[in-house]
Amino acid sequence: MRILVIEDDEAIASALVTGLTREGFSPVRAADGARALRELPADFILLDLGLPDCDGLELFQRLREASNAPIIMVTARGAEDERIAGLDLGADDYVVKPFGLRELIARINAVLRRTSPDSEQRPQRLNAVTIDRRTRTVSVNDVDIACTPKEYAILEYLARDPGAVVTRQELLNAVWGPNWFGSRKMIDVHVASLRRKLDQADLIETHRGIGFRLVVDS
Ligand code: CA
Repeated sequence: MRILVIEDDEAIASALVTGLTREGFSPVRAADGARALRELPADFILLDLGLPDCDGLELFQRLREASNAPIIMVTARGAEDERIAGLDLGADDYVVKPFGLRELIARINAVLRRTSPDSEQRPQRLNAVTIDRRTRTVSVNDVDIACTPKEYAILEYLARDPGAVVTRQELLNAVWGPNWFGSRKMIDVHVASLRRKLDQADLIETHRGIGFRLVVDS
């Protein structure tokens, strides 16, 4: 997989190229925006927003126009406005400097799972539970269960990144939409009902005061 690494900092860029190569990716480096556009197409793009020759968010939009590749933005610590603007523009994820290679790889893999058409087509198995996104059905030990649309959406969202803790706010945004203003307790009610239907009390773990995660046997 060809990953375009857009980064002007020599030390960071060469560490990324080495690390990504070791993980089996084929990184290509671009130290500025003009070079980045010449290096397309790519399968995945890592974009540092602080570049010498252009505005990072503008470059983001040009990359989006020219490429369907998922984009993870890299931002400086504290650049909250930039991050929010980037996510609004449709970045697939972001990492904040300084970040570790393992964190980056995990995020790349999570984005690939979310965006890969292949993985959308194949039913996803989570212990005894199977989610079929084509038919929007859930089965337990191959027997279909009757989920409400909200229950399905909650499970489907958690299943995009098994093992990751998803906050209540993130779930609210994903399932109820960003303009929904009600009690967050509502989520717990749906999750409790979902747990009963799945008959797997341990599959969806509650993190008190934070959110939920799927606990899946590896
Ligand atoms: Ca930079």
